Amino acid sequence: MKETETKVLNIEISHPQRIIDRDIKKIDIIKYYELIEPFILPFLNNRPISEIRCHNGLKDTFFKKHHNNSDELIYVKDKQSLILECQNGTIEFHTYGYNKKSHKPDIMVFDLDPDDKLSLKKVRQGVLNLKIILDKLNLKSFLKTSGGKGYHVVIPFFKVINYKKFETFAKKVALLMEKTWPNLYTTNIKKDARNGKIFIDYLRNKKSATCIAPYSLRAREKLPISFPIAWEDLTKFSPNKVNIKNFKKYLYNNAWNEFFKVKQELI
Ligand code: ATP
Ligand code: MN
Repeated sequence: MKETETKVLNIEISHPQRIIDRDIKKIDIIKYYELIEPFILPFLNNRPISEIRCHNGLKDTFFKKHHNNSDELIYVKDKQSLILECQNGTIEFHTYGYNKKSHKPDIMVFDLDPDDKLSLKKVRQGVLNLKIILDKLNLKSFLKTSGGKGYHVVIPFFKVINYKKFETFAKKVALLMEKTWPNLYTTNIKKDARNGKIFIDYLRNKKSATCIAPYSLRAREKLPISFPIAWEDLTKFSPNKVNIKNFKKYLYNNAWNEFFKVKQELI
Protein backbone atom coordinates (compact mmCIF):
# COMPACT_ATOMS: atom_id res chain seq x y z
CA MET A 1 0.00 0.00 0.00
CA LYS A 2 1.27 3.48 -0.82
CA GLU A 3 1.69 5.75 2.18
CA THR A 4 -1.04 8.09 0.96
CA GLU A 5 -3.56 5.26 0.80
CA THR A 6 -3.89 4.67 4.53
CA LYS A 7 -7.54 4.89 5.55
CA VAL A 8 -9.11 4.93 8.99
CA LEU A 9 -12.93 4.78 9.18
CA ASN A 10 -12.90 5.48 5.47
CA ILE A 11 -11.04 8.74 6.04
CA GLU A 12 -7.90 9.10 4.00
CA ILE A 13 -4.95 9.79 6.29
CA SER A 14 -2.27 11.97 4.76
CA HIS A 15 1.36 11.58 5.89
CA PRO A 16 0.60 8.68 8.30
CA GLN A 17 4.33 8.13 8.89
CA ARG A 18 5.05 11.75 9.79
CA ILE A 19 7.08 11.89 12.99
CA ILE A 20 5.37 13.64 15.90
CA ASP A 21 7.82 12.80 18.71
CA ARG A 22 10.71 10.36 18.41
CA ASP A 23 9.18 7.07 17.27
CA ILE A 24 5.59 8.30 17.61
CA LYS A 25 3.96 8.97 14.25
CA LYS A 26 0.80 10.65 13.07
CA ILE A 27 -0.85 7.29 12.48
CA ASP A 28 -0.20 6.34 16.15
CA ILE A 29 -2.15 9.44 17.24
CA ILE A 30 -5.02 8.47 14.96
CA LYS A 31 -5.02 4.86 16.14
CA TYR A 32 -5.03 6.08 19.74
CA TYR A 33 -8.14 8.18 19.20
CA GLU A 34 -9.83 5.43 17.23
CA LEU A 35 -9.36 3.10 20.18
CA ILE A 36 -10.19 5.60 22.93
CA GLU A 37 -13.27 6.98 21.13
CA PRO A 38 -15.87 5.26 23.36
CA PHE A 39 -14.17 6.79 26.40
CA ILE A 40 -13.49 10.32 25.14
CA LEU A 41 -16.52 10.98 22.92
CA PRO A 42 -19.05 11.46 25.77
CA PHE A 43 -16.86 14.33 27.00
CA LEU A 44 -16.67 15.96 23.56
CA ASN A 45 -19.94 15.47 21.75
CA ASN A 46 -22.18 17.69 23.84
CA ARG A 47 -20.07 20.87 24.01
CA PRO A 48 -17.82 23.12 21.94
CA ILE A 49 -14.17 22.23 21.84
CA SER A 50 -10.87 23.82 20.94
CA GLU A 51 -7.77 22.04 19.78
CA ILE A 52 -4.02 22.03 19.69
CA ARG A 53 -2.83 21.01 16.27
CA CYS A 54 0.60 20.05 15.16
CA HIS A 55 1.78 19.77 11.59
CA ASN A 56 5.50 19.37 12.00
CA GLY A 57 6.56 17.85 15.29
CA LEU A 58 5.89 19.12 18.81
CA LYS A 59 7.83 22.35 18.40
CA ASP A 60 5.33 23.60 15.88
CA THR A 61 1.88 23.58 17.46
CA PHE A 62 -1.02 26.01 17.39
CA PHE A 63 -4.29 26.54 19.25
CA LYS A 64 -7.43 26.36 17.15
CA LYS A 65 -10.74 27.69 18.47
CA HIS A 66 -12.78 28.15 15.31
CA HIS A 67 -13.38 26.54 11.97
CA ASN A 68 -11.20 27.99 9.25
CA ASN A 69 -12.13 31.58 8.34
CA SER A 70 -15.18 31.71 10.58
CA ASP A 71 -16.31 32.53 14.11
CA GLU A 72 -17.97 29.15 14.43
CA LEU A 73 -16.85 27.02 17.35
CA ILE A 74 -15.71 23.48 16.70
CA TYR A 75 -17.83 20.44 17.54
CA VAL A 76 -16.95 16.75 17.45
CA LYS A 77 -20.19 14.82 17.22
CA ASP A 78 -19.09 11.30 16.39
CA LYS A 79 -16.22 8.92 15.72
CA GLN A 80 -15.77 10.11 12.13
CA SER A 81 -15.47 13.77 13.10
CA LEU A 82 -12.99 12.81 15.84
CA ILE A 83 -10.75 11.02 13.36
CA LEU A 84 -11.16 13.81 10.80
CA GLU A 85 -9.87 16.37 13.33
CA CYS A 86 -6.84 14.10 13.93
CA GLN A 87 -6.28 13.74 10.21
CA ASN A 88 -6.16 17.56 10.15
CA GLY A 89 -3.41 17.55 12.77
CA THR A 90 -5.21 17.72 16.12
CA ILE A 91 -3.42 16.21 19.10
CA GLU A 92 -5.15 17.92 22.05
CA PHE A 93 -8.90 18.26 22.56
CA HIS A 94 -9.99 20.97 25.00
CA THR A 95 -13.57 21.40 26.12
CA TYR A 96 -15.75 24.27 27.24
CA GLY A 97 -17.67 23.76 30.47
CA TYR A 98 -21.15 24.23 29.02
CA ASN A 99 -23.67 22.14 27.21
CA LYS A 100 -24.09 23.10 23.57
CA LYS A 101 -27.90 22.92 23.69
CA SER A 102 -28.67 24.76 26.91
CA HIS A 103 -25.53 26.91 27.07
CA LYS A 104 -25.64 26.24 30.81
CA PRO A 105 -22.46 25.20 32.59
CA ASP A 106 -22.36 21.54 33.56
CA ILE A 107 -18.71 20.67 34.20
CA MET A 108 -16.71 22.54 36.84
CA VAL A 109 -12.93 22.24 36.90
CA PHE A 110 -10.31 23.14 39.44
CA ASP A 111 -6.91 23.16 37.82
CA LEU A 112 -4.16 22.78 40.39
CA ASP A 113 -0.97 24.37 39.08
CA PRO A 114 1.92 23.73 41.47
CA ASP A 115 5.04 25.82 41.70
CA ASP A 116 7.89 23.85 40.10
CA LYS A 117 9.63 23.58 43.46
CA LEU A 118 6.74 21.81 45.16
CA SER A 119 7.15 18.09 45.92
CA LEU A 120 4.66 15.66 44.43
CA LYS A 121 3.69 14.71 47.97
CA LYS A 122 2.59 18.29 48.69
CA VAL A 123 0.82 18.57 45.36
CA ARG A 124 -1.15 15.44 46.22
CA GLN A 125 -1.98 16.76 49.68
CA GLY A 126 -3.22 19.88 47.93
CA VAL A 127 -5.50 17.81 45.73
CA LEU A 128 -6.85 15.83 48.68
CA ASN A 129 -7.62 19.00 50.66
CA LEU A 130 -9.83 20.12 47.81
CA LYS A 131 -11.65 16.80 47.88
CA ILE A 132 -12.25 17.23 51.61
CA ILE A 133 -13.88 20.61 51.01
CA LEU A 134 -16.00 19.27 48.14
CA ASP A 135 -17.06 16.23 50.20
CA LYS A 136 -18.17 18.58 52.97
CA LEU A 137 -20.26 20.43 50.42
CA ASN A 138 -21.76 17.08 49.40
CA LEU A 139 -20.32 17.33 45.91
CA LYS A 140 -19.02 14.28 44.12
CA SER A 141 -15.78 15.08 42.34
CA PHE A 142 -13.54 13.23 39.92
CA LEU A 143 -9.79 13.28 39.53
CA LYS A 144 -7.57 13.25 36.47
CA THR A 145 -3.95 13.83 35.72
CA SER A 146 -3.32 16.88 33.55
CA GLY A 147 -0.74 15.06 31.47
CA GLY A 148 1.54 17.95 32.39
CA LYS A 149 2.50 19.18 35.82
CA GLY A 150 -0.66 18.97 37.87
CA TYR A 151 -4.04 17.42 38.48
CA HIS A 152 -7.54 18.49 37.60
CA VAL A 153 -10.51 18.02 39.91
CA VAL A 154 -13.73 17.86 37.93
CA ILE A 155 -17.32 18.17 39.18
CA PRO A 156 -20.28 17.21 37.00
CA PHE A 157 -23.51 19.16 37.38
CA PHE A 158 -26.90 18.02 36.24
CA LYS A 159 -28.42 21.45 36.71
CA VAL A 160 -26.89 24.88 37.19
CA ILE A 161 -29.05 27.97 37.16
CA ASN A 162 -26.58 30.28 35.37
CA TYR A 163 -22.92 31.14 34.77
CA LYS A 164 -22.84 33.82 37.46
CA LYS A 165 -23.79 31.27 40.11
CA PHE A 166 -21.30 28.76 38.70
CA GLU A 167 -18.33 31.17 38.59
CA THR A 168 -19.11 32.66 41.99
CA PHE A 169 -19.29 29.21 43.55
CA ALA A 170 -15.94 28.13 42.04
CA LYS A 171 -14.31 31.34 43.25
CA LYS A 172 -15.68 30.89 46.76
CA VAL A 173 -14.26 27.37 46.96
CA ALA A 174 -10.84 28.59 45.78
CA LEU A 175 -10.84 31.48 48.28
CA LEU A 176 -11.81 29.08 51.06
CA MET A 177 -8.87 26.84 50.15
CA GLU A 178 -6.51 29.80 50.20
CA LYS A 179 -7.86 31.02 53.53
CA THR A 180 -7.75 27.58 55.19
CA TRP A 181 -4.29 26.60 53.95
CA PRO A 182 -2.54 29.92 53.15
CA ASN A 183 0.88 28.27 52.92
CA LEU A 184 -0.26 25.79 50.31
CA TYR A 185 -2.61 27.65 47.97
CA THR A 186 -2.79 30.92 46.13
CA THR A 187 -5.61 32.25 43.98
CA ASN A 188 -3.20 34.77 42.46
CA ILE A 189 -2.51 33.89 38.84
CA LYS A 190 0.90 35.62 38.84
CA LYS A 191 3.81 33.17 38.73
CA ASP A 192 5.80 34.93 41.49
CA ALA A 193 2.86 34.58 43.92
CA ARG A 194 3.19 30.84 43.52
CA ASN A 195 6.46 30.50 45.40
CA GLY A 196 6.17 27.07 47.04
CA LYS A 197 2.40 27.02 46.56
CA ILE A 198 -0.30 25.66 44.30
CA PHE A 199 -2.21 28.10 42.13
CA ILE A 200 -5.81 26.97 42.34
CA ASP A 201 -7.16 28.04 38.98
CA TYR A 202 -10.89 28.57 39.39
CA LEU A 203 -10.95 30.81 36.29
CA ARG A 204 -11.31 27.67 34.14
CA ASN A 205 -15.01 28.05 34.98
CA LYS A 206 -15.61 31.18 32.94
CA LYS A 207 -17.79 30.64 29.90
CA SER A 208 -14.92 31.45 27.54
CA ALA A 209 -12.44 29.09 29.24
CA THR A 210 -11.46 25.55 28.31
CA CYS A 211 -9.73 22.62 29.93
CA ILE A 212 -8.03 19.63 28.40
CA ALA A 213 -10.56 16.80 27.94
CA PRO A 214 -10.27 13.53 29.87
CA TYR A 215 -8.39 10.99 27.71
CA SER A 216 -6.94 13.69 25.45
CA LEU A 217 -3.31 13.35 24.47
CA ARG A 218 -1.00 16.27 25.25
CA ALA A 219 1.26 17.67 22.56
CA ARG A 220 4.26 17.27 24.83
CA GLU A 221 7.23 14.97 24.98
CA LYS A 222 6.18 11.27 25.02
CA LEU A 223 2.55 12.23 24.34
CA PRO A 224 1.14 12.02 27.87
CA ILE A 225 -2.61 11.73 28.47
CA SER A 226 -4.91 13.70 30.77
CA PHE A 227 -6.07 10.49 32.38
CA PRO A 228 -9.05 9.83 34.70
CA ILE A 229 -7.98 8.05 37.88
CA ALA A 230 -9.70 6.87 41.04
CA TRP A 231 -9.19 9.01 44.13
CA GLU A 232 -7.59 6.03 45.88
CA ASP A 233 -5.00 5.83 43.11
CA LEU A 234 -3.74 9.41 43.46
CA THR A 235 -0.39 8.31 44.86
CA LYS A 236 0.10 5.80 42.04
CA PHE A 237 -0.14 8.34 39.22
CA SER A 238 2.20 11.24 38.66
CA PRO A 239 0.66 13.95 36.45
CA ASN A 240 2.31 12.73 33.24
CA LYS A 241 2.55 9.01 33.99
CA VAL A 242 -0.03 7.75 31.52
CA ASN A 243 0.94 8.22 27.90
CA ILE A 244 0.25 6.97 24.38
CA LYS A 245 2.47 3.94 24.92
CA ASN A 246 1.36 2.68 28.33
CA PHE A 247 -2.31 3.71 28.61
CA LYS A 248 -3.81 0.30 27.84
CA LYS A 249 -2.79 -1.19 31.13
CA TYR A 250 -4.62 1.59 33.03
CA LEU A 251 -7.85 1.60 31.06
CA TYR A 252 -9.29 -1.21 33.16
CA ASN A 253 -10.10 1.01 36.10
CA ASN A 254 -12.75 3.11 34.35
CA ALA A 255 -12.59 5.39 37.36
CA TRP A 256 -15.12 7.84 35.97
CA ASN A 257 -17.85 5.29 35.34
CA GLU A 258 -20.38 7.28 37.34
CA PHE A 259 -19.48 10.68 35.90
CA PHE A 260 -22.60 11.22 33.79
CA LYS A 261 -24.90 9.57 36.30
CA VAL A 262 -24.27 12.10 39.07
CA LYS A 263 -27.25 14.40 39.58
CA GLN A 264 -25.87 17.45 41.37
CA GLU A 265 -27.38 20.91 41.24
CA LEU A 266 -26.30 24.50 41.81
CA ILE A 267 -29.52 26.48 42.01
P1 ATP B 1 -0.43 21.55 33.49
O1 ATP B 1 -0.62 20.46 34.47
O2 ATP B 1 0.91 21.48 32.86
O3 ATP B 1 -0.74 22.89 34.08
P2 ATP B 1 -2.85 22.10 32.04
O4 ATP B 1 -3.65 21.46 30.96
O5 ATP B 1 -3.57 22.28 33.33
O6 ATP B 1 -1.49 21.29 32.28
P3 ATP B 1 -2.58 24.99 32.02
O7 ATP B 1 -1.53 25.84 31.38
O8 ATP B 1 -2.67 25.01 33.50
O9 ATP B 1 -2.35 23.51 31.45
O10 ATP B 1 -3.96 25.43 31.41
C1 ATP B 1 -5.19 24.94 31.86
C2 ATP B 1 -6.16 24.89 30.69
O11 ATP B 1 -6.31 26.19 30.15
C3 ATP B 1 -5.67 24.03 29.53
O12 ATP B 1 -5.99 22.67 29.68
C4 ATP B 1 -6.32 24.69 28.34
O13 ATP B 1 -7.61 24.16 28.05
C5 ATP B 1 -6.46 26.15 28.75
N1 ATP B 1 -5.35 26.92 28.12
C6 ATP B 1 -4.08 26.96 28.48
N2 ATP B 1 -3.33 27.73 27.66
C7 ATP B 1 -4.20 28.21 26.74
C8 ATP B 1 -4.06 29.08 25.62
N3 ATP B 1 -2.90 29.60 25.25
N4 ATP B 1 -5.17 29.36 24.92
C9 ATP B 1 -6.35 28.84 25.27
N5 ATP B 1 -6.54 28.01 26.32
C10 ATP B 1 -5.49 27.69 27.05
MN1 MN C 1 -2.82 23.33 34.94
